[in-house]
Amino acid sequence: LTDLSGKTAIVTGAARGQGAVEAEMLATAGASVLICDVLEEEGAALAERLASEGHDVRFKRLDVTSEAEWAEALALVRDWTGQLDVLVNNAGIINRKIIRDMSVEEWRKVLDVNATGAFIGVKLAAPMMAEGGGGSIVNISSNSAFTGHYDPAYTSSKWALRGLTRTAAMEFAEQGVRVNAICPGLIVTDLNRGSPHLGPMIGMTPAQRAGEATEVAQLVLFLASGASGFITGEDFVIDGGFTA
Ligand code: NAD
Repeated sequence: LTDLSGKTAIVTGAARGQGAVEAEMLATAGASVLICDVLEEEGAALAERLASEGHDVRFKRLDVTSEAEWAEALALVRDWTGQLDVLVNNAGIINRKIIRDMSVEEWRKVLDVNATGAFIGVKLAAPMMAEGGGGSIVNISSNSAFTGHYDPAYTSSKWALRGLTRTAAMEFAEQGVRVNAICPGLIVTDLNRGSPHLGPMIGMTPAQRAGEATEVAQLVLFLASGASGFITGEDFVIDGGFTA
């Protein structure tokens, strides 16, 4: 079992979906967890529930595109536990318009949340982790970052996260900060519930099923823990053989 007692983690986009499961499993492993999201009611309710179950969890509103809100979140962690050990850049949005139908503004929005949001997180969190002797950053990309899909802005943003992962891993390795990416395939959450793509995608998945958020969160726990101490700059596809 992974023991993250004494560690502090931030999970972005953690009010619901995969991020909420990742936050809960990190807290269950003993970490103090800051749940961050733009969904204030859902995030606060999740933090309240986990705290009532005995976990050390708080909620902070964080729009990942805002450098000022990132700075506030890190200041909160500094006052709370004094250190940051784990950052999960999980927040993400999708826009399935094809290139001909997508405005430049719509393209920028997706890239801003999915790629630039993680860049700001790495930029501000990695030096703080380095101060404390190191840490682990996990960027939630997608198996779209290995292929092309009919969602150009989303797919491009997820390829960008792989590039950010590799370059950040090189820049911060000597300071003990590891940076890895998880590239999930179909995981059923609010992002894709009801999507007409679900059935066909399951049909094209060798495992013949969608993944569970807990299966992604298990990988987050491994990458957050010392068990993965020599792994950095890597992408981990978790998709039931879809891209195999
Ligand atoms: P979700 O929509 O349930 O959760 C995404 C969360 O991100 C939401 O809570 C949302 O409020 C939050 N968010 C959106 N914009 C934000 C912003 N600007 N700042 C902070 N938070 C913001 O979706 P999910 O399936 O749980 O997705 C989690 C991550 O996993 C995303 O990065 C997604 O791209 C990735 N992913 C999902 C799948 C899948 O099949 N569900 C597959 C591959 C990758």
